[in-house]
Amino acid sequence: MGANCASSLPVVHLGVVVVSCLKSLLSNVGGSLLFQCNYNIQYLPLNENLPKFYREIISHWQKINNTNPKTKGDVLNQIIWNNQFIRVNKSSVFFPGWNKVGIRKLSCFFDNESNTLLTFTTFMQKYNVKSNFLQYYSLLSAIPKEWKTLLKQECFLPSTEYVPLSIEKLTCKTIYNTLLNHQHFPPPTAEKRLTEYGFNFQERQKIYSLPFRVTNEVKLSVFQYKIVHNILYTNKILHKMKKKQQPDCPYCHGIDQTPLHLFVECSIAKSFWNKFTNWYNATCGGNIALEQNEIIYGVLRYTSSCLTLNHLIIIGKYFLYINGVHDEKRPQFKDFVTLVNEKIELEKYIAITTNKLLSFTKKWSNFLSN
Ligand SMILES: [Zn+2]
Repeated sequence: MGANCASSLPVVHLGVVVVSCLKSLLSNVGGSLLFQCNYNIQYLPLNENLPKFYREIISHWQKINNTNPKTKGDVLNQIIWNNQFIRVNKSSVFFPGWNKVGIRKLSCFFDNESNTLLTFTTFMQKYNVKSNFLQYYSLLSAIPKEWKTLLKQECFLPSTEYVPLSIEKLTCKTIYNTLLNHQHFPPPTAEKRLTEYGFNFQERQKIYSLPFRVTNEVKLSVFQYKIVHNILYTNKILHKMKKKQQPDCPYCHGIDQTPLHLFVECSIAKSFWNKFTNWYNATCGGNIALEQNEIIYGVLRYTSSCLTLNHLIIIGKYFLYINGVHDEKRPQFKDFVTLVNEKIELEKYIAITTNKLLSFTKKWSNFLSN
């Protein structure tokens, strides 16, 4: 079962797959509820049989989703279950019976009128759950002191602008944007290299988000993501991994095939981008010329057709990659044009089904009139 789940992970609705696989193994931490909680994996009483792969997902999700409440509103909004700050006997807690009747947030234990936490008696009158005095007070005493101080404040400060993520609705785009915006997350691996190339902060942000802005096709987004982060496998590295006999470029004897060679330096690539710019300029009536960095990272300066051009550049690199790494055959430019038309057809289909035909037509207007 585990292997099946893992192999279907790269699809967009990652969350659905993960959640259904994990439900039973995570029953003691509330199943998929866990992914809404502010947990720390070291305090979770996780099932011993939970495979390492899922532990890693839980650990990564923690980095994206954990918060540190700053206002009274934040504190009241905290889900108490699996909360990293609410620990009894060094472990975060989850009471299934209480969760079942809707007790989730800290606000359930709070009386707004008296501005205090509920007494055991009031709590029992309100919820009528199976509990005892000791269990109730051990939970209340586990609430951090700082939170209790915030709760005593008379004025009600609304919660800060934190919107919890829902793993069921998770897409690659959301994960990536969250990672980019997350202050505590280490900078992407490409950061140092891009800074050395002279890209400023705004340009780097554009480079990271570009693969997810110009296309909805996950395969292409991931492909460009790998290029940006220098983790795309070409012959040089495939040879090191013993997956290819030669590290060479199939067109240039004795020269290692690196991403830079494949996409820019190879004579085949040079000829391809020449034809590409001629074709693009003829189709769009433009006058573009591509620099080396623009081929690799995208055109960052503002042009009205930026989305289209950058999408086409990614398709171009994908085309070179398929020919030069997978098939090891000489690319024919007419095959690239066919590939582009297929991609446009696919995007049109998606646009129709999602009611976005207008933006589709705007993006591809020059290519549709032919
Ligand atoms: Zn070459």
